[in-house]
Amino acid sequence: MNNESNMGKKHIVIIGGGFAGINIIKSLDKEKFDITLVDRHNFHSFPPLFYQIASSGLDSGSISFPFRREVRHMKHVRFHMGEVKSVNTSAKTITTQFETISYDYLLIAAGTTNNFFGMNDLRDKVYTLKSVAEAIRLRNEVLDRLERASIAKDEDEKKRLLSFVVIGAGPTGVEVAGAIGEMKRYILPREYPDLDKEDLKILIVEGADKVLRTMSEDASRHATEYLGHLMVDVKLNTTMVSYDNNIVKFANGEEVYCETLIWTAGITGEHIEGFDKSVFGRGGRFIVDSYNRVNGFNDIFALGDIAYMESPQYPHGYPQLAQVAIQQAKCLAKNLNIGEFKKKFEYKDKGSMATVGRNRAVADLHKLHMYGRPAWVAWMFVHLISILGMRNKLTVLINWIWAYCTYSTSLRLLIRPTKYPYRRHWDLAKE
Ligand SMILES: Cc1cc2nc3c(=O)[nH]c(=O)nc-3n(C[C@H](O)[C@H](O)[C@H](O)COP(=O)(O)OP(=O)(O)OC[C@H]3O[C@@H](n4cnc5c(N)ncnc54)[C@H](O)[C@@H]3O)c2cc1C
Repeated sequence: MNNESNMGKKHIVIIGGGFAGINIIKSLDKEKFDITLVDRHNFHSFPPLFYQIASSGLDSGSISFPFRREVRHMKHVRFHMGEVKSVNTSAKTITTQFETISYDYLLIAAGTTNNFFGMNDLRDKVYTLKSVAEAIRLRNEVLDRLERASIAKDEDEKKRLLSFVVIGAGPTGVEVAGAIGEMKRYILPREYPDLDKEDLKILIVEGADKVLRTMSEDASRHATEYLGHLMVDVKLNTTMVSYDNNIVKFANGEEVYCETLIWTAGITGEHIEGFDKSVFGRGGRFIVDSYNRVNGFNDIFALGDIAYMESPQYPHGYPQLAQVAIQQAKCLAKNLNIGEFKKKFEYKDKGSMATVGRNRAVADLHKLHMYGRPAWVAWMFVHLISILGMRNKLTVLINWIWAYCTYSTSLRLLIRPTKYPYRRHWDLAKE
C-alpha cells in the first residue's frame, strides 16, 4: 500500500469502521483528504441486532456489509484489513500485524470490548455479544445444548444442559434473555418434542434495582412484565462475584447452577498501545475535548464509544450509543473539512428503545413513552432504516415478517468452524 498522500492532500487513517468510522468517511471532503480505513474485520456490522443472530432470528450476512463494497466508488478511500496493535505518535504511524501506515491525522473509532471487572478467567468461560463472531458462537452453543438435551436420557442432565444465566439487564441483556425466552415458549413445543419447556431455565441478573436502569420507570416495569411473559426469571440488586465449575456465586452468598453464562454487564475501550496513561479516562476511553481531540494532541482524534467527552449535561461522559458515534462523526468531519475547530459537539438525544420478544418493546422518546406493539413497530422501523445496504434491509424485513407469521425461522443451523488447515495469523484477531 502506498502510504504517501497525493500532492496537497492530507492522509487520514481511521481505526475502526463501526458507526463512527463509516459515517465520518461519508462526510469528509474527498478533495482535501485521502483516507485509509483499518479494521480487524472486512465488514461493517450492526451490534443492536447481534442478539437476533444469537437466537437464530437473523443470519449474520443480513446485518453485515463488506467495507470494500461500501467504499468502491470512493477513489480517495483505501481499506486495510488488520488489527491495529500500536500507534507511534512521534513518527505518526500505526502498526497492524501486517504493516505500518503513516498518517497526517489519526481518527480512533475502535469502539469497546468486554469488561470483566478483574474476573479475567471469565473470558474463557462465558458467552459475550460484542461481535458477529461472538453472536454466532452463542447461537451454536444454544443449538448444541438443545440437541444434546433432546437425546439426554437423564432428566437432571437435561435441566443442567438447559440452564442459562444472563448477567446484566441493560438493553442487550434484556433482549438476549427475551429472545431465548421466545425460543422456550414458541420453538421448543413445536420442534423439540423430547423437551419440556419447563426444563429450560433463563435467569437474568442485575446489580441495580431495576432492569433497563437508564430508561424510565415505566419502561423498566413493562420490560420486567414482558420478561415474565417469556418465562425469564429476574434477580435484581445482585452482583456476581465468580463463576467456577458451572456455579455462579453472588455477593449476597447465593449460588446458582448454570452451564451457559451470558455476560452483558460491562464494556471498556479497545486498548491500543503507544499512549501515555494520562490520555485514558473512565472505562478505558480516550479523553477528548469537545472537538474530539485526544488530550494533548492536535492530530489525533477519538470518536464514538472509545471517546470520553464530558459536557455540563453529561458530566460522566456521553452514553455509548450509536447516535453519539454518528453525530460525533458528522461534527468532526465538518471541522476537519473547514480546517478549523469551530463547531463544538452537542449531542441531540433521539431517545432509547429495547425489545422483549414479538409485539413487545419499550421506547422512551423524550416526553413520548411507548410500550407494547406500537413501541415494537417503532423499534423495527428505526432498526430497519439504520442497517447498511438495501439487500440487508429487505432480507431483515422478510425474515421478520416470516418469523411473525410462522413463529419460526429456518436459521437454526449449527455450523461449526473447522480447525484445519490452521491459519496462524488468524490467532491475532481478538475472537
Ligand atoms: C449487543 C449490542 C447491542 C447494542 N444495541 C444498541 C442499541 O440498540 N442502540 C444504540 O444506540 N446502541 C447500541 N449499542 C451500542 C452501539 O453499537 C455502539 O454505541 C456503536 O457501535 C459505537 O460505534 P463505534 O463506531 O464507536 O464502535 P463500533 O461500532 O464498536 O466499531 C468499532 C470498529 O472498530 C474495529 N476495531 C476495534 N479495535 C480495532 C483494532 N485494534 N484494529 C482495527 N479495528 C478495530 C471493530 O472491528 C469495529 O468494526 C449496542 C452495542 C452492542 C454490543
